[in-house]
Amino acid sequence: MIRWGEKRYHSMDYDLKTAYGEKVYKITLDGGMTCPNRDGTLGHGGCIFCSSEGSGDFAGSRACSISEQIAAGKRELSGKRPVHSYIAYLQAYTNTYAPVCRLEELYMEAIADPEVRILSIATRPDCLGTDVLELLGRINRIKPVWIELGLQTIHPATARYIRRGYELPVFEKAVRDLRSMGITVIVHTILYLPGETNEQMLETVDYLNRMDIQGIKLQLLHILKGTDLALEYERHPFPVPDMEDYIQFLGMCISRLNPQTAIHRLTGDGPSELLIAPLWSSNKRTVLNTLHRYLKEQDIWQGKEYYD
Ligand code: SF4
Repeated sequence: MIRWGEKRYHSMDYDLKTAYGEKVYKITLDGGMTCPNRDGTLGHGGCIFCSSEGSGDFAGSRACSISEQIAAGKRELSGKRPVHSYIAYLQAYTNTYAPVCRLEELYMEAIADPEVRILSIATRPDCLGTDVLELLGRINRIKPVWIELGLQTIHPATARYIRRGYELPVFEKAVRDLRSMGITVIVHTILYLPGETNEQMLETVDYLNRMDIQGIKLQLLHILKGTDLALEYERHPFPVPDMEDYIQFLGMCISRLNPQTAIHRLTGDGPSELLIAPLWSSNKRTVLNTLHRYLKEQDIWQGKEYYD
């Protein structure tokens, strides 16, 4: 069995501790962006699950500059423990969707702090034009850049249902373009999207195993107040997993996942005051502890099934 520290899976934390010799903390930022899926370019409503904050509910305030948000994040984190290393994480909305000169200012401001080790940028694969890629390549030569692509699923019917707004070849081209510049690619997937079977979710994992990606987020679907998904859930309730089902299914995903791919998330990450379902997921610590126990009891580790 391969071991990544104490864990039975290859975690982002393990990689960061190995590279930087200590835990690296994320500061979540709001760069004042919008999204083509919200501003009318592709649509107005956004993805069906996306909250009004553009899936950046824990980000700093867009009324403050990036350096002010970083300073506030550092004050909060280092007030509780000694911290010297941070990831500047542009999370809210689509963080490559602005004129390239504006993006350059934003990214340079984020990496200017010497304790910011990595710039992590959440975006859509259809918002990576040549000029943006050139900029990302340049920034990546100064400090490592991670690009997080919101894929969610490989299945076209689900992608249409969630109003993702791009086709799979667009994602594949984005991964190739980013990797040709040595940029780390992290893919955001959502588990338990309405109508998807376990087999379909595992097909998404298997597909990503064949891609040149470095990280994955396995995000449990959260139904959040104020989203179109919440309206849908109210009108036509669909099944959501209980914790036991979810843990067992995660076990399957982990054992199938390429051991080279670092896991950046294994559960939900939504604000509890907006969460409608599944409510058990708001206790993240319990979910992760239960998962770790389950993996041990069942002798599961990442990649166990991958080579079969
Ligand atoms: S692409 Fe991202 S920010 Fe835009 S609507 Fe979808 S989830 Fe929200």
